[in-house]
Amino acid sequence: MRGGMQEWPLVTWRLLDHAARNHAERAIVGLAVEGGTHRTTWGAVAGRSRRLAAALAGLGVGRGDRVATLAWNTWRHVECLYGISGTGAVAHTVNPRLFDDQLTYIITDAADRVVLFDLSFVPLIERLAPRLPSVEHFVVLTDRTHMPTSTLDLLCYEDLVASGDADFAWVDLGEDEAAGLCYTSGTTGNPKGVLYSHRSTVLHALAATGVDVLALGARTRVLPVAPMFHVNAWSVPYAAAAAGSALVLNGPHFDAATLTRLIVDEGVDFAMAVPTVWLGVLQHLAATGGDLGGLNRVFIGGSAVPASMIEAFAGHGIAVSQLWGMTEMSPIGTIGAPTPEVAALPPDARLAMATKQGRAVFGVEMKIVGDDGGELPRDGVAFGRLLVRGPWIVDAYFEADAPATDADGWFDTGDVATIDARGYMGIVDRAKDVIKSGGEWISSIDLENTAVGCPGVREAAVIGVPHPKWDERPLLIVVAEPHVTRDDVIAHLVPRIARWWLPDDIVFVADLPHTATGKLLKTELRATYRDHLGG
Ligand code: AMP
Repeated sequence: MRGGMQEWPLVTWRLLDHAARNHAERAIVGLAVEGGTHRTTWGAVAGRSRRLAAALAGLGVGRGDRVATLAWNTWRHVECLYGISGTGAVAHTVNPRLFDDQLTYIITDAADRVVLFDLSFVPLIERLAPRLPSVEHFVVLTDRTHMPTSTLDLLCYEDLVASGDADFAWVDLGEDEAAGLCYTSGTTGNPKGVLYSHRSTVLHALAATGVDVLALGARTRVLPVAPMFHVNAWSVPYAAAAAGSALVLNGPHFDAATLTRLIVDEGVDFAMAVPTVWLGVLQHLAATGGDLGGLNRVFIGGSAVPASMIEAFAGHGIAVSQLWGMTEMSPIGTIGAPTPEVAALPPDARLAMATKQGRAVFGVEMKIVGDDGGELPRDGVAFGRLLVRGPWIVDAYFEADAPATDADGWFDTGDVATIDARGYMGIVDRAKDVIKSGGEWISSIDLENTAVGCPGVREAAVIGVPHPKWDERPLLIVVAEPHVTRDDVIAHLVPRIARWWLPDDIVFVADLPHTATGKLLKTELRATYRDHLGG
């Protein structure tokens, strides 16, 4: 047979070239690390990314080399993603909230040759540099006037960009070459690297723009509070280029007052963040009586979303959609966009569906399996380990000898879930967080979500604690307003949960520990409260 389609490798710079040609004037607005608001456009960022690519090539960075960033969400960080991958190198977004030892491990494991970092991290880099033998150049993401004095020989990002050739030709890459690298934020063992290919990044970005996914278009003004160092800000720097959306970036600021102001002042209509960020914003609004301007959609992912949070946003006229995914999935797996059938349900039933994690987007296959590996029914009741496969899901970890999947290509997410007949997936728990009590399972997530529905309870964590009779029993640890008593919480829980799910004790604390990506740090809680029930 003759005839066919063109060979057009799916590489990241095509997304940027598209934005530059078709959306050049669209805004990229961001809070600068140096202070103030920086206004630029996709057209300008595209030009600077090309210069950066040229300058990196001039430093000797070549195909397959890893180049790290330790940076907040800024226009410069967007340039880094494209500039690095446009030279054929791999943009390794490092989470600066990790501990020194984890950072040293990750940068050394990745053998990063260059590190580009924000001014916020000068002390961190000075501390770590002697332990980073692979790194040849440290680049500060700032201009000449803000360059710090340092014991290290630091390069200035703006000088580097200015020195780059504006006509640099993007490196001619195959779509299966690596474009990005992100390490899992594993709470046990060493973090593992997930390599994103150009192809997986572009396919994922295209899927992300879809109406029932992120619904990005040229009229969207999106604020991805989710950091680029946490799975590429959930694809937004790539998907927004494909869609021509305006980007609003919060830089180093995560406090509720600043986020609220940014959303209102910059006309943000869509924002994405983990639940803890939204918790702060909702508390701020309740305390100040403020609003969120033209924001009409928020996407929440990274941890389960309680019904009370969805209702609180509804009170501000804002629709919540839940997003589930993971570092190993680029990250998007499911989205809670309602089907017509779900949209037609009575409010309570609709709310119950919104607390589920949603339906698989095209490109993600899912199934749940029992202990014997056999597939469980999609009836919304049976629960088992959630397995996934698709073109933007990890095949093997960075430099690993063994595949990360089983013989049929399924990747075990480590989550335990239900899937119903309509394809809605509901996370029951992380497999390691589920509480096994007297041979039955208790979902820590369900208990937490119910507990935060109690007026005055701000945040809740439930862990399984060793128990002499029942193996494990749930312990509820809460952050609450001072007037909330133990009896209040119990009175709230009793009518809403099975009797035997009732936590054996409730502990009131000032703060709960979180991981570097904003999840509850349950390993620490389990260690602290191991003996709490005399088990
Ligand atoms: P990470 O790789 O750090 O993004 O973590 C991925 C894990 O976060 C998943 O395997 C889930 O356990 C959890 N997670 C992400 N999104 C959600 C969600 N919407 N609801 C419940 N858990 C979530």
